[in-house]
Amino acid sequence: MLKPCQHCAVTFAIRPRQLCYRCYEDKAVRALYRPKTTNFPKRSRRDRRLARRPTKALPGSEAKLRVFEQRFAQRVQLFHPFDA
Ligand SMILES: [Zn+2]
Repeated sequence: MLKPCQHCAVTFAIRPRQLCYRCYEDKAVRALYRPKTTNFPKRSRRDRRLARRPTKALPGSEAKLRVFEQRFAQRVQLFHPFDA
């Protein structure tokens, strides 16, 4: 169902942000109605995939730090549930 434009209310809101075509094309008006949400939320580090394999490197060791560096560069989670 079409709703009236939330700015001018003269015509129907056929553009995003519940604005009519004229209001949406006016950048000053459009800026008044910034969307509260985005369709592309920023992904957090928790959304990253698991590393392909767990490591046997012991916690706190130099080897474990190198594993962290590799995983960081590969943009995967730093910790694996089956790490040593
Ligand atoms: Zn309008």
